[in-house]
Amino acid sequence: MSRKKSFLLLNYFKPSIYLESYKKINLDSLKNSGIKLIMCDMDNTLISWNERIPNTDIINFIKSVYEHNMEFVLFSNNIRSRVENFAKKAGIKNYFWDCKKPLLGKFKLVRKLMPYKENEIVLIGDQLITDVLVANRGHIKSILVSPLGRVSGEKKIVQFLENFILNRLAQKNILHEGFYNEGELGGNYEIL
Ligand SMILES: [Mg+2]
Repeated sequence: MSRKKSFLLLNYFKPSIYLESYKKINLDSLKNSGIKLIMCDMDNTLISWNERIPNTDIINFIKSVYEHNMEFVLFSNNIRSRVENFAKKAGIKNYFWDCKKPLLGKFKLVRKLMPYKENEIVLIGDQLITDVLVANRGHIKSILVSPLGRVSGEKKIVQFLENFILNRLAQKNILHEGFYNEGELGGNYEIL
């Protein structure tokens, strides 16, 4: 594979914005950028993989999203019982489990059920190979956050790939782990 091509592929793992935590998300700024629908990963984004009960920070964040008149969709690869239990306790109205990110099947279903334009949707998540990749494949913007729990229930191969891509992104000066950048949500979007 040529250098140029591998560089372009890496861009599929590039988030629009990189933040330490969902708590740093500026909902006013998202709203001003025209975002109407927030799709959000669950494990290690809102709650660490070994916890079950949403804390008040999460509950307040969800409340604040609705107060900003934005839609919120929990978009998780985890199983129904865990996703449903979390969503109900966190006050989340719309949730999808077994999403198989980075595949586009459930993503397309959400797009069909909630017909917002591509530039009106953002996806928040902690993983490059599932969350950021599905967002870029689906032509929407993404916010990468640092995972809440580094030692996770993820399969080892997933963690290996994640670290591999993080290293490649750092080598290409695209993204450096822990160096957060609010980016420009309204700016040019290089993937599209
Ligand atoms: Mg996650």
